[in-house]
Amino acid sequence: MKKRIPRPTLKEIEKIISEFQKRYPKYIEAEIICTSPNKIPVWMIKVTDKGVSSEDKSNVLIVGGHHGDEESGRAACIGALEWLVTEKAGEVLKKQQVLIVPCVNVEGTMKNEHCNSNNVDLCRDYTMNGGTSQPEVKGILNIADRYKPDVTVDVHGLAGGAIHEMVLPVQTREYCEDDWIHNMLARDMRNAAERKGYPMAGHSLSWSGWFDSDLKNPVHLNTYCYKKYHSIGILTEGNEATFDYGQMKESGSLRLIELLKAGNKKYPFEYYPGYPNRIISGSFFFGLIAYGKTAEERRNSTVDILKNLDHFSFGQKYPIKKGQADLTVKYKGETLTKGASFRYRRKGLIKPKGVYFDNRKLNISETNGFVIWYDHCSTYIQWNIPELSEGEHKLKLKY
Ligand SMILES: [Zn+2]
Repeated sequence: MKKRIPRPTLKEIEKIISEFQKRYPKYIEAEIICTSPNKIPVWMIKVTDKGVSSEDKSNVLIVGGHHGDEESGRAACIGALEWLVTEKAGEVLKKQQVLIVPCVNVEGTMKNEHCNSNNVDLCRDYTMNGGTSQPEVKGILNIADRYKPDVTVDVHGLAGGAIHEMVLPVQTREYCEDDWIHNMLARDMRNAAERKGYPMAGHSLSWSGWFDSDLKNPVHLNTYCYKKYHSIGILTEGNEATFDYGQMKESGSLRLIELLKAGNKKYPFEYYPGYPNRIISGSFFFGLIAYGKTAEERRNSTVDILKNLDHFSFGQKYPIKKGQADLTVKYKGETLTKGASFRYRRKGLIKPKGVYFDNRKLNISETNGFVIWYDHCSTYIQWNIPELSEGEHKLKLKY
């Protein structure tokens, strides 16, 4: 095994941040999000096209270096940052705010140690409701709560000393489309690296020995953001056993770049372009969807819906008549003032004669009414309800 020379060092990272700030003021903004126990600053770089308003941008949070002895995570972050300031990333920066914390465990990195200087594994210090003890993790959670990320990536390395390279989606809630969507994105990330000669493992984060594999009792960066913001959560692992710095950077950043490109795509099952994280519950056939015309509105609606998710139940009237759909949404939570949307999918290209909500006929509208679109084999109808109150709501479609 090759002797590992841990790169990038904290000094190298700080130098890159200060150089990039000077060279790319239109795209780069750096800030100190917290300091470590011995007051070493932890930097975050926000990369976005500052000429475009942020309200319709997706937010992506990429955190490297939770473990100070894993340099490939830091290397991947630097690789992604270097790509983001090239012309190739122009469209991504118009539609996304990319927040990169290349090295959160600054003191562990200085000593090439797994934990921080309080001897805490930062990955295990995440909690849902305020029990976090370490300043570095508090700093990350502040950023997560400020930006409500659509995507989080927790970039690791070392792979237990093995040669494994992995893209591991977060454990999602059972019986919804999240599992499929996460695996689709992870597959695309792996393929991007393999095309350039970096072989990948194909499995998810399903090993029961992993500390966060049980969604009932987990918390790390990805699970925190998935539960609170419905963020797409990905953890990556890199080979540090046989790779040099250039290879670690390339393999890691190829995967991150592919994910960032996904944030500019239009997925057939989504109405708006961007990361496909809007089906909060249910399936492609009948789902509870984030409401809003802009990315910011959808993030705010998602937070409210997730808080009240247990108060929803869904039904469909049987037998299902030809040319008609009768759906019910029972809701027992507080009034959702940030709105809620509901999506229905049916085989073939259908033309509705009427779309109704609680017997009110709706017009086409992204904010108060319905929208309709098609894919290769089906029609999607989405009810957009600006305020949802308690009660049994009837959604009807005639065509
Ligand atoms: Zn790690």
